Amino acid sequence: MACLFCQIVAKTQAADIVHEDDDIIVFKDINPRAPIHVLLVPKLHIATVNDVEDQHTLLLGKLFATAKRLAAQWSIVEQGYRLTVNVGRGGGQIIDHVHMHLVSG
Ligand code: AMP
Ligand code: ZN
Repeated sequence: MACLFCQIVAKTQAADIVHEDDDIIVFKDINPRAPIHVLLVPKLHIATVNDVEDQHTLLLGKLFATAKRLAAQWSIVEQGYRLTVNVGRGGGQIIDHVHMHLVSG
């Protein structure tokens, strides 16, 4: 399995996991750019947003719902936070498995 994030999902690669359910895993970014910086990752391998299809929309919507729940849990709703999805090398995407950055602080 070549994909790093699929390896994290499969637990063959270590990560600091802060949330997991049937569809999504959330772990701390290894190179945090702010006091809070986690990656919300669908367990299904979708390489980039360019590979998203209609059947993925519910799954990807869960990234937002989970981000919102974690923000409330971490008491950062009032101070705010940024959700970012990079697409393609020119868009800053390094790991080819769709993920959302949640950054705050
Ligand atoms: P992107 O540039 O949107 O593809 O983001 C990839 C992110 O993954 C970067 O912010 C990296 O710091 C992060 N990253 C790379 N390897 C790991 C890892 N093993 N565990 C956690 N985060 C990682
Ligand atoms: Zn993957």
